[in-house]
Amino acid sequence: MRQAADPLRPRVVVVGGGIAGLATAYMIRTLAHERNADPVITILESKSTTGGATRTDHADGFTCEWGPNGFLDNEPATLEIVKRLGLESRLVKASSHASKRFIYHHGHMREVPLSPRAFLTSDILPAGAKFRIALELAVPAKRNGEDETVYDFARRRLGDSFAQYMIDPMVSGIFAGNAKELSLRAVFPKMVEMETEHGGLFRAMIAKIREAKRTGKVSGGPGGAAATLTTFVNGMGELTETLTNELAGNIITNADVQSVKLHGEMYEVATNDAVFSADAVVLACPSYVAADIISEISYNAAECLRAIPFAPVDVVAHGHRIEDVGHPLDVFGFLIPRGEDYRALGSLWCDAIFPNQTPDGTHMLRTMIGGAHDPQIVNLSDNEVEQLATSEHRRLFDVRREPVFKKLIRHPKGIAQYTRGHLERVAELDFLERQLPGLIFTGASYRGVSVNGCMKDAIRVANTLLNQWRLN
Ligand SMILES: Cc1cc2nc3c(=O)[nH]c(=O)nc-3n(C[C@H](O)[C@H](O)[C@H](O)COP(=O)(O)OP(=O)(O)OC[C@H]3O[C@@H](n4cnc5c(N)ncnc54)[C@H](O)[C@@H]3O)c2cc1C
Repeated sequence: MRQAADPLRPRVVVVGGGIAGLATAYMIRTLAHERNADPVITILESKSTTGGATRTDHADGFTCEWGPNGFLDNEPATLEIVKRLGLESRLVKASSHASKRFIYHHGHMREVPLSPRAFLTSDILPAGAKFRIALELAVPAKRNGEDETVYDFARRRLGDSFAQYMIDPMVSGIFAGNAKELSLRAVFPKMVEMETEHGGLFRAMIAKIREAKRTGKVSGGPGGAAATLTTFVNGMGELTETLTNELAGNIITNADVQSVKLHGEMYEVATNDAVFSADAVVLACPSYVAADIISEISYNAAECLRAIPFAPVDVVAHGHRIEDVGHPLDVFGFLIPRGEDYRALGSLWCDAIFPNQTPDGTHMLRTMIGGAHDPQIVNLSDNEVEQLATSEHRRLFDVRREPVFKKLIRHPKGIAQYTRGHLERVAELDFLERQLPGLIFTGASYRGVSVNGCMKDAIRVANTLLNQWRLN
């Protein structure tokens, strides 16, 4: 076991100052202090600012998110970090008026039913498709451990129409992904559990309701506790800004890390213009960057890191005067399945979700374009993406005038895609982490693409290092 030179003052380098790197550094420091240790932490960030994709702009009264516009409030790790940072009073929950969601299907916006009764009476799917869904109860469980795609699982259990018109757009909306490529085990492990433990999705839901009646404890949806989209008064950037202020003395910006090498018992981290010696290195940069950085340490791990694909996502935010939009933008948002006559993946109606994010008398649409279904989006110029969004907004929402506020944010490598084989790739990284204590991978590329995934993993990484330093 590699030991820190001074177990009470281990030297740690964190590569990447996005939300994952910042939260991990903060938790290493916080938990170490609770054990009377004082690690020397350096966060190396290649850009001139920290935060990565978790960043908020404010202009003309509009709050505009670069990446995440919130997190679900059912992850204890996120709530713990928020509490430790003293940010609980700054939390803002999505308006309960914005609970309706729509799917654009065959030329119409159709409301997504939120209860079985609403589903039976809704026009979202034809009667035959609804009947096929009811047959889920009779579909035998598959327990062979095969790494099935999300689409194959949905088609097998719930039928073609459900997979195509409900699941695929949902996967586009959450992961900018293609349901035909993503691994069910990696992105929806709870679904696998529902099938293997209870024999199917409806059976699992019935078991859950029975359990709730027996214990008197009411829990949320089938996948876990009910959750509400939540942000901060000043948007998600408030979280990364607070972490940045907390860690101010530990951050070096414009430090583009090129390599990590072993040097005796220590790691050597080389940037464009300096070398840092460390007992532990946390790689909190995207996996394709980590691949090059560790290529001299492990060829196998570097290949696994390179095999994690990313989907591009463009975010187009348009603020409009209410009178310039014909459609009432008073719901959460909507998704568009592939095969309809639109390139947008869907839009969020920001003023309905978080009313404090737009000036009075305005709407703000936040539309996502690209994703794994449309990687060619990166070939369009900024102007072309703007024009595409403007023309689709016009057709979808009867927008009659130019926006009063515009912002385009492009993420050519936006969201990591946990395709089939993802868990095996992460297992290879776990193997390297065990072989080389002190070297750890974290962030949205591995164990959860969401902010919650990053926060949960930040605590895992901090505890792993503390264990290695025998500080538990
Ligand atoms: C459009 C969009 C919408 C999203 N919406 C949501 C949402 O609503 N809810 C949600 O929970 N999640 C959402 N996500 C996912 C969320 O953004 C991620 O979970 C989170 O931002 C990942 O943080 P990270 O720190 O892992 O990566 P990043 O934010 O990418 O940070 C990585 C950091 O590493 C730095 N870096 C890269 N290379 C180097 C190097 N060589 N040396 C030093 N530093 C380097 C980068 O500059 C960057 O600052 C969304 C993502 C996108 C793109």
